[in-house]
Amino acid sequence: MRQHMAAKDRGAEQGDVDGPLECSLTLGGVAAESRRLVHDAQRRGEVPWATPGDEAAAEANREFDGRAEQAAAWRALEPSSRRESDSAGAIVPDPLHEVQLHGGLLDEWYLDDGDILCDPRLVVPYLQAFDRVNPQVGGERNIPKTEVVYYADVAAMGQHSSMWRLDEVRQLATVVMASEPGITLGVATGTAEAVGSQVRKKVQVVRAMQERIAITEDAQTEHVLNRDCLGVGRVNHLLRVHGDKLLRTGGSLDAFDAAAAAEMDRLFPGLTPEGRAQAALGTPFGGLGWRRATDTARPANLGALVAVGPQVRSIAAAASHAGLLSPGQLEALLEAKTRRIEQAYLAELDEVDRVRAEEFLRKARAAAEESWAQQSRGAPGSGVNSAPVAEALYVGDGEDVPTSDARASAAEASEDEAQGAPRRRMSAPHAQKELARLLDCTRLRALEAALRQQCNWPQLEALKDYRHKAVSNRWLWHLDARRGSVLAPCDYIANVQLRLGATILQSEAACRLCGEQLDLQAVHSECCDTAGATRGHYAVVRAMLEGFRLADPSVCTEPRGLTSTQSRPADIFTLAAVPGRRAALDVCVASPNAATAAGDAAEAAFKRKLRRYRREVRELAAAGISYRPLVWTANGRPHPAVTRTMKYAAEVAANRSEDHVDGTSLLRRWRHEVQVAILRRRAAMLRAVLPRPGARTDWLRTGIVQGRPDVHRRACPLSDEDDEAEPQHAEREAGAAPGEEMWF
Ligand SMILES: [Zn+2]
Repeated sequence: MRQHMAAKDRGAEQGDVDGPLECSLTLGGVAAESRRLVHDAQRRGEVPWATPGDEAAAEANREFDGRAEQAAAWRALEPSSRRESDSAGAIVPDPLHEVQLHGGLLDEWYLDDGDILCDPRLVVPYLQAFDRVNPQVGGERNIPKTEVVYYADVAAMGQHSSMWRLDEVRQLATVVMASEPGITLGVATGTAEAVGSQVRKKVQVVRAMQERIAITEDAQTEHVLNRDCLGVGRVNHLLRVHGDKLLRTGGSLDAFDAAAAAEMDRLFPGLTPEGRAQAALGTPFGGLGWRRATDTARPANLGALVAVGPQVRSIAAAASHAGLLSPGQLEALLEAKTRRIEQAYLAELDEVDRVRAEEFLRKARAAAEESWAQQSRGAPGSGVNSAPVAEALYVGDGEDVPTSDARASAAEASEDEAQGAPRRRMSAPHAQKELARLLDCTRLRALEAALRQQCNWPQLEALKDYRHKAVSNRWLWHLDARRGSVLAPCDYIANVQLRLGATILQSEAACRLCGEQLDLQAVHSECCDTAGATRGHYAVVRAMLEGFRLADPSVCTEPRGLTSTQSRPADIFTLAAVPGRRAALDVCVASPNAATAAGDAAEAAFKRKLRRYRREVRELAAAGISYRPLVWTANGRPHPAVTRTMKYAAEVAANRSEDHVDGTSLLRRWRHEVQVAILRRRAAMLRAVLPRPGARTDWLRTGIVQGRPDVHRRACPLSDEDDEAEPQHAEREAGAAPGEEMWF
């Protein structure tokens, strides 16, 4: 054995790509040799086997001798012939890595971190053997960090103190009992209080970090950092282990969610309970993906148990082979725990989602078994693309087709990092994600029921738009302005508020443009500011034009002379919208809440356009030109004609390009740009109707005084001539609310 071990002078540090692998291989050799030394002493009768009785000892001796022979045969082989003969050709490992029958030793390693389950009588022999072998590879065992955890109570410790050689163990390691709180791989174990207090500590860390990131003074950056770095990801590894327990004991997870809610309220004022519930949903369901720990606890816990069940069972089987557990003992506990959490999770779901969840869990269990079987065989590419997916398509009340596609949006989210089909591996995160999606469906249904009860039709309608699969949500998390437009902070905040149906006005106010009483969510803004609507319309036209130009360099706007009438029904004239024909495209952003919008706002506007221009449409058709309205709702949901047109143009552009542009990702970028234009329009229209701050507030905010310097103003009081000279200024004063303090 010794000649196969090479000294290593580096550990498993991050950043050294080969370090972890070399470290694992080296320590694998150390572990096998340490165990062999202990079993060798057991074979000679100096140390007891874990299972009492002569029969067990004879079995153990036989296996030990057999293994020694196999190991010698293995060693005699050329390394190149130590492979299985089947097509996978997996490497045959040294038989010394196998677990010894009744050996009382089972070690599981993660890089340089090992967990050794062993008979308490073997602690000293094992540590001594390890310390003899480890220096041969240049290894040094950290004595205080070596924890010997006894699954025994104080009485048993006292009773067996001499048999377990506890005094010697204390010289070699730190001794603790399993009932004492401890940390294993970053997760607290022991009492429920210890587990809860670890979450509370995380809450403090998150709060402190939230204060720090506020110095970016940019709502979008803070939002993305909060969601991705200070969100539920901070405690997800704890939830995987203790999710259900934490949920049942209560308190700590609520504190975590309260910290997140406080931050959300600071960034986006005026959120209602429904708005916060919406924010907690994934973006394909109309939310922000700002997940709550209480919502995540069970999917995380259950996902982990299902995904790693086969691994735990294989450890348990090995432990019972080693004589450490009775067969099936741990398996029964694991199964009972998994079933209990599964029942609790399923009980939260609506009937339709429960059926899907049961189906998914059944497939996930099978996939986890298969994936583990492949991995432990060492089959190449094992486990990839074998993970089942849950059928998490949401069909709203009174709808007949699913209106959200979680997977398309996930592809959109990862577009910045990776291209191509996502690799799905059956893992705890994958199972958790799928289970969370199903829970989202149930939560969304409950949210919609609550909105319906409040008769909040605008928000219900908006939710339907947001979760439409053709809506681009990238603006929510996209921060790099070099790679696509980023909204200005004020537009971003306004749009998130509008998305979540926040109370934008805290008190009654009149529309600045028409004087009508504003509703608190300022839905009125979608119909009132016609000038802003026109400006926004041209911004959308420009964004569309950018994309069409890639497909058709001759594309032009506001084409004249297409028809005999004075009207110009089209904004864009291009060859790249309809296969084989020229097309006149008419861009329109329709308010779902306008009086003319009945039912589907986009469809209504589409039909309205066709009706209004029916004469022109006929003339255009005679000239071989298609007329096509391109309609979006104010929430950014495109009419199917838009989706079709953009898809076709993106394909043409991809085919025309010299450098093999991917049409799908081009389309995604283009849709994002159009979405940003629509959202900028929306934010500007909102600002237009809100009460304008007086001149004094303007000065307080910016330090700039509009108009001429005060000195001049003093010398020359206002007159009609001043109004003519400075129309902008006149408008400003005219806009001031009655009774508002005049600054000049
Ligand atoms: Zn108005």
